[in-house]
Amino acid sequence: STPIETLEFQSEARQLLQLMIHSIYSNKDTFLRELISNASDALDKLRLETFRDKELEADTSDLHVAIELDAQARTLTVRDNGIGMTRDEVVSLIGTIAKSGTADFLRKLKQAQDAAGSQDLIGQFGVGFYASFMVADKVTLVTRRAGTAEGVRWESDGEGTYTIQTVVDAPQGTAVTLHLKPEDAEDRLFDYTSPVKIREIVKRYSDFITWPIRMSKGSAADGEDAASESEVDTVNSMKALWARSKDEVTDQEYHELYKHVSHDWQDPLETIRLQAEGTFEYQALLFLPSRAPMDLFWRERKRGVQLYVKRVFIMDDCESLVPEYLRFVKGVVDAQDLSLNVSREILQQDRQIQLIRRRLVKKVLSTVKSMMTTDPDKYATFWTEFGRAVKEGLLDDVENRDAILDISSFASTHDAEKPTTLRQYVERMKDGQEYIYYLTGESRSAVEKSPHMEALRARGVEVLVLTDPIDEMWVDAVAGFDGTQFQSIAKGQVDLDTDEENETAKAEREQRQQDFAGLLSWLTETLGDTVKEARLSSRLTTSAACIVGDTHDMTPTLEKMYRAMGQ
Ligand code: ADP
Ligand code: MG
Repeated sequence: STPIETLEFQSEARQLLQLMIHSIYSNKDTFLRELISNASDALDKLRLETFRDKELEADTSDLHVAIELDAQARTLTVRDNGIGMTRDEVVSLIGTIAKSGTADFLRKLKQAQDAAGSQDLIGQFGVGFYASFMVADKVTLVTRRAGTAEGVRWESDGEGTYTIQTVVDAPQGTAVTLHLKPEDAEDRLFDYTSPVKIREIVKRYSDFITWPIRMSKGSAADGEDAASESEVDTVNSMKALWARSKDEVTDQEYHELYKHVSHDWQDPLETIRLQAEGTFEYQALLFLPSRAPMDLFWRERKRGVQLYVKRVFIMDDCESLVPEYLRFVKGVVDAQDLSLNVSREILQQDRQIQLIRRRLVKKVLSTVKSMMTTDPDKYATFWTEFGRAVKEGLLDDVENRDAILDISSFASTHDAEKPTTLRQYVERMKDGQEYIYYLTGESRSAVEKSPHMEALRARGVEVLVLTDPIDEMWVDAVAGFDGTQFQSIAKGQVDLDTDEENETAKAEREQRQQDFAGLLSWLTETLGDTVKEARLSSRLTTSAACIVGDTHDMTPTLEKMYRAMGQ
């Protein structure tokens, strides 16, 4: 037989496995959801690859998932006849964790001292295949990549190393066998060799999976005969949730679908349904996650929703269906009239896809808008997590600019604790106030300490405190909100008391201007290239002087940003 190699897990993988072995997740049943999810993905991938590559020698006659239980040996096997993995794929996909943010997560977990805090953190982090080690003390994976001759056998107890070996007789696809922990044997709750228990878990977590999940009808307790001879049946209903009417589907079912498509372990914040009938029929089921992913602002991140055509999975991360600024939206779009052979390039040009995308965007924005009134706490969570991304839409999506402004919130001097919407700001505007005032900066405290704030504070005029890098960009591009223009208090003349200035005040101002004319021209000359002009100001109350940008100048933060980008 072929030699057995022993390899080490990557260090992050090793740490995660330790967490699994010591079983810190409260719900162990989820291991099965993860294995079935992977099997389903493998079947999707195989079907797609056979569309694209007609030469591929693969058997697609009876694609399915099978669950096999053996009470005597105390094993549970999840088998699929999908795409399978090569040796190198097993090493890179199973031996390492490519998932973005893993290192971050582990660091935070270390810092989270109290058990409650770490539980909460763990629940957010999907561990996928490694969840097997919550219930198994040894896992064996046998796989053969479709179209290749040799298979691979992988085995590990999760303690630092795994073995890998070439095998000759592996069937196409992947079989994962869990050798269940002895300590769970007596506990009915964790008896994962019980067919009743396993059927219940499949129904609960994986009912919507579009491939049949089969199990033997006989009970495992019947012995060997039952395993070999008894009939099998399909446990899941395979009903696409997006094609069913709303009142037929429970929230829990929606949430499980969300976890399958997003690989998130937490429930979504919001579920959004869309159905279009007529000449161009499609259904969509979209989700707003309850937390921003670690890679929300990384360049290489993936985005987009899953695309199905007539219930057939076509692709993950279909970026043509959602704009960049809504990259956190997850879900499924099922279109009736597309070809199964569509490629990403074709989709970008496709008029129907563009129409769907427009509808999806409007629906997401209107959902958030109604959340603002029906569930303000939920909206606040949404905005904290995703507001920074959504504001990019103010630049990118001119068509929906007003709708985006409408659902945006900003920190403001009105209430340090609570962000304000623009509508609320406008309602609080002073009589005669013409503009929505704002100041950009690197942090709230930097903005509040700014000398530009003094006059406005003294007069009780509210100022928006804009501290996200993107704020620098959109405030220049957006004309105003509902007819009221934005005005930076650091730029040009801020006219605070236009018509109130009476004759004496005017005379006084002119007198002062004359008194200081000499000083001002001396300052302007001495400071030379650094400033354009020195002038008297009514905007300061305690600081002696401040630097003001010209109306069209870049703000200091923006300048810094461009410099950082090398421009
Ligand atoms: P995720 O599913 O989030 O990518 P997992 O830990 O569940 O993370 O799986 C890691 C990777 O291993 C998968 O992305 C897939 O490429 C591969 N894999 C796992 N199970 C299977 C399987 N049954 N068939 C083929 N590939 C698999
Ligand atoms: Mg997975």
